[in-house]
Amino acid sequence: MNIILLGPPGAGKGTQAHRLVEARGMVQLSTGDMLRAARSSGTEMGKRVADIMDRGELVTDEIVIGLIEEQLDGDAGAHGIIFDGFPRTLAQADALGELLSAKGKTLDAVVEMRVDDTALVKRVIGRFTCGNCGEVYHDETKPTAKDDICDKCGNSEFKRRADDNEESMRTRLMTYYRETSPLIGYYYAHKRLRSIDGLGEIEAVASRVEGALAE
Ligand code: AMP
Repeated sequence: MNIILLGPPGAGKGTQAHRLVEARGMVQLSTGDMLRAARSSGTEMGKRVADIMDRGELVTDEIVIGLIEEQLDGDAGAHGIIFDGFPRTLAQADALGELLSAKGKTLDAVVEMRVDDTALVKRVIGRFTCGNCGEVYHDETKPTAKDDICDKCGNSEFKRRADDNEESMRTRLMTYYRETSPLIGYYYAHKRLRSIDGLGEIEAVASRVEGALAE
């Protein structure tokens, strides 16, 4: 089953994608993670996109479509693919449709995660992740049990995203409403859309995601 997790920044797409990887052995394709990896390894492309990402704007369709195309080339995803943070524009959605059909793959469901804006801003501003295992924490709602030690792997280095600040977040939200939210109608028209409430405990949202996939 190949799916898209669709939703504004901070909706919990990455968190739910991780769970699906663990639970179902699916492969997560996150263009945000790929772009951050390109930045930290210092590639030409990584340098070009750094400022755009920090401002919370979108990098070009050409770059992200290219990244996804590379990933679809192998035979990864026997247990399904989760597209996380892609597509973000109508042009990307069209390109994904074409890429999948060229590879003989289908798009089975688009799960829209709905979370209100105030909650999104709060979630993103306090969030940090373990530098080793990627576990996601939050200053107020999910601190580590012991100060500065990851509950999951014991590591003591944590990361905060450069774009998880109030100004970038406002741009990211605006960009979402302007460029990405039209995909809700697009996938509704393609009979792929399943919408869930993305607010609440991770486990509760996870069972809503499972419910949406079983529809
Ligand atoms: P994310 O981790 O998905 O929130 O993405 C972080 C940033 O990477 C975004 O704010 C954009 O600047 C860039 N980015 C990630 N995915 C895409 C995409 N599909 N199209 C354009 N820009 C993207």
